Amino acid sequence: EKSIESRLVKVRQELGADFEIKECDKAQAIEDLLENEFSSTKQEASAFYLMDLGTVVRKYEQWVHLLPNVKPFYAVKANPLPAMVRTCKAVGTGFDCASQNELEQVLELGVDPENIIFANPCKMKAHILYAKKHNVRKMTFDNEAELQKIHENYPEAELILRLLPPDASSAVCNFGSKFGADKKMTKRLLKQARKLGANVCGVSFHVGSGCWDPNAYTLAMELAYSVCMQAENEYGFKMKIVDIGGGYPAADNLTDSISFPTIAEVLNKSIQKLFPPESGIQIIGEPGRYLCGEAVVLAVSVIAKRTRVPAESTVYSENPDDADDDSDENDDKEKQDDDEEEEQILYYLSDGVYGSFNNVMFDHQNPVPHVTGAAAVAAAASALSSGAKKSTLFGPTCDSIDVICRDVTLPELEVGSWLYFLNMGAYTIAAASSFNGFTPPNCKYIITPG
Ligand code: PLP
Repeated sequence: EKSIESRLVKVRQELGADFEIKECDKAQAIEDLLENEFSSTKQEASAFYLMDLGTVVRKYEQWVHLLPNVKPFYAVKANPLPAMVRTCKAVGTGFDCASQNELEQVLELGVDPENIIFANPCKMKAHILYAKKHNVRKMTFDNEAELQKIHENYPEAELILRLLPPDASSAVCNFGSKFGADKKMTKRLLKQARKLGANVCGVSFHVGSGCWDPNAYTLAMELAYSVCMQAENEYGFKMKIVDIGGGYPAADNLTDSISFPTIAEVLNKSIQKLFPPESGIQIIGEPGRYLCGEAVVLAVSVIAKRTRVPAESTVYSENPDDADDDSDENDDKEKQDDDEEEEQILYYLSDGVYGSFNNVMFDHQNPVPHVTGAAAVAAAASALSSGAKKSTLFGPTCDSIDVICRDVTLPELEVGSWLYFLNMGAYTIAAASSFNGFTPPNCKYIITPG
């Protein structure tokens, strides 16, 4: 508690002058705050994010507590909003940057280049030169062309060999089609690096998100160990970094991955066994969604609605024998089929898949809408009276692919009503476009002490 409070003080100091940040006491739930926001904007309005910097601090604190020997380098790509990045700086994370722009953003804050890793295994030459100019030495590679390119442009770079984690069969988390050197390749790359006189000093892996199998982490750590041994014993490199990548779940109540404490337990066992403090290896990680995902609620308003009645064709029986049969018995059957094809309400919201909900397309998310205050009471009541309606939520653009979710049960909403979505901090604003002229939502900031 004490260290959370002292970290919050640092966050306020870092951000206080530049951002309007509301302080909410513990008893004041986020939903209350949304209700207040809603009641002040009664008509249709632009969607907005509500970011709780207190959650970011608590997630960081949990990381430090559960993985005390792993320094987190926040993966800026997950949410590059300045307040998010500066909160990470205030609590003391390092940074994982994927491009020159991300490097610039972090360096401009005065972050020590030692606390930055340029963790993109395929970089543009100009970006490597930028890293060189600013002394960002740590960078990843996983192929011969990249090794050559880095060596020609920045021979002093500290190279981290990105490994292809072994297939843990049940793990759905496969990044392997794009990045990572397999066992055969690591040997070739280490040999080439030796020949060039390049400075290989670590290995990394990224198991990927949505991983179901804790064994995937154990296997990846064992591979990291064996490649480190190979690099030191066969090629004479001095290894000093093992980077355990990102992919750690945004929230532990999500059903699509194992929990962070479970992952941490498995990792700690491997660290203790393979890379104890006396090994002299520094372990770092690149959490993105873990730090920012849970911190953000997205509030979205209903800008239009209509009712879709079941298509007429569905009321006809599929049995050809019944086609000309007008008996009462068949009328009854038709009516039954009709009832099964429920009426739906189609809602058009102020944000969609070209905006924040690009996570439906790019990040395999299934957003779940929530209603607030009065609507929540109505929802409970209508669930009891089975008056809740099947609904489909569309984004505001003219494209029919712009669907947030289908067939959800919601109380009937009006134009101007608000919905909110939890865990919307990661890979939302980061890739949101202004397609059809709808600009991505603004962000409001709060700090809840927990
Ligand atoms: N590190 C690397 C190399 C990545 O490619 C990514 C995501 O794509 C991350 C870290 C962050 O992943 P996550 O946000 O799932 O933690």
